[in-house]
Amino acid sequence: MSAADEARVLAAVPTGLFVDGEWGPAASGRTFDVRDPSTGEVVASVADADAADGLRALDAAAAAQAAWAATPPRTRSDVLRRAFDLLRERADDLALLMTLEMGKPLAESRGEVAYGSEFVRWASEEAVRVSGRYGTNPEGTGRTIVLKRPVGACLLITPWNFPLAMATRKIAPALAAGCTVVVKPADLTPLTTLAFVAILAEAGVPDGVVNVVTTTSAGEVCEPIIRDPRLRKLSFTGSTPVGSTLLAQASERVLRTSMELGGNAPFLVFDDADLDAAVEGALLAKFRNVGQACTAANRFLVHEAVADEFVRRVTDRVEAMTLGRGTDDGVDVGPLIDDRAVAKAEHLVADAVSRGAVVRTGGSRGGGTGTFFEPTVLDGVQPGSELLTTEIFGPVLAVSTFADEEEAVRQANDTEFGLVAYAFTRDLARGQRLAETLETGMLGLNVGVVSNASAPFGGVKASGLGREGGLEGIQEYLETVYLMTPDPFAA
Ligand code: NAP
Repeated sequence: MSAADEARVLAAVPTGLFVDGEWGPAASGRTFDVRDPSTGEVVASVADADAADGLRALDAAAAAQAAWAATPPRTRSDVLRRAFDLLRERADDLALLMTLEMGKPLAESRGEVAYGSEFVRWASEEAVRVSGRYGTNPEGTGRTIVLKRPVGACLLITPWNFPLAMATRKIAPALAAGCTVVVKPADLTPLTTLAFVAILAEAGVPDGVVNVVTTTSAGEVCEPIIRDPRLRKLSFTGSTPVGSTLLAQASERVLRTSMELGGNAPFLVFDDADLDAAVEGALLAKFRNVGQACTAANRFLVHEAVADEFVRRVTDRVEAMTLGRGTDDGVDVGPLIDDRAVAKAEHLVADAVSRGAVVRTGGSRGGGTGTFFEPTVLDGVQPGSELLTTEIFGPVLAVSTFADEEEAVRQANDTEFGLVAYAFTRDLARGQRLAETLETGMLGLNVGVVSNASAPFGGVKASGLGREGGLEGIQEYLETVYLMTPDPFAA
């Protein structure tokens, strides 16, 4: 991709608020800058909404709700299918835009466009498969009919780390179910979401059904929306502390919520594992998205009999990785999102080393003007190290050991989080035992990536409430209502 491609893609992205089918400035006229983390340069300035703009977006969503809910499912499905086709057609441009605002290598951005688009296709297919049921009550005196209907206007708040997939995973099932939405993307990476919303409008989503507010004042904009009785659902993806603040706000109205929160994934390698597969899985689970994924393996727990060999093999591979600007050819690892993320990685590595860990490769801030951190392998991480209880959110692969399965499970579960776990073993019964004993919403057994539009993504414990994708994803946007009728054969 050339500088001309970058300029073309940036010139095409809308930078206003999208409310009731119109792009426009924030009422205050304020804007904020979006920067390329690999250079620090401003790539775009977008509208900076305030609370009144947010409520205007909710006005539009609430006004459009009844008509969208009454729109035939096939029509909703067709709109989403057109959006999926457009996403596929424009995949290269969207990937470039994502790399420019977020930093990940282009190949990974293309992967996210493919992955994120699948939620749109999946939701277009689910839109026409929503069904209830009909049954006779146990006494035989009546019939129960169970209906599903859209919950109503939703607020969807997304993080910066997967700017397309986190948006499609919420917007597409909400629209499929017949809900209207106000979307609040992260201020660090609003551009890809804005481009996706433009695609939805082009695909035929009616005015008011999808509205987007970009802002640097997330709390000030979102809280009045959450407290407004016209809002019927909040779906949030982000950190656990912000999720719990939002849950507290939502609790006052008993607002329905879905929460996709933080993780601290264990990656278990047993002594019977296929080590080649475990190394491949480890590189994916750790370095995808430069380690900035809720699903990123945070703690590598390796059986002591194979730990040295595992560390030797991953270190060889990590040493060969190229750090650089995501748009450049041959780059494996891009910048972190901002300087705070680099400082956090530096701190966590220093803390682990001060407690006895050994740096096998990397361990330092990268050079240049961007927010780079070297791909790193830490061996011999000791109990009490901060990175064992903190989401690293950076390219640091931290290894500690276990002696047997019981200890592995105990260490794996020793966290407040429970989003995903990975395990490499050739023993099928052990794999099944782990699925029953690990406190996790998802388990990758002999694989390093679990995300798929057809699967219910989500966590247990402090990792959240609800699921996105799979048959479950659309249910998050549907109410269950039941109707009791008398026995139609009764005299
Ligand atoms: P974050 O700081 O919690 O922000 C997430 C979103 O919430 C952003 O749009 C942010 O806006 C907004 N926000 C922040 N404070 C808010 C408030 N008081 N009221 C309303 N909205 C508010 O998280 P992040 O740093 O963007 O994302 C990283 C976190 O997300 C990690 O913990 C990661 O594990 C988690 N995550 C979870 C999943 C999952 O599926 N479980 C997926 C991806 C990421 P601004 O950014 O504009 O301030």
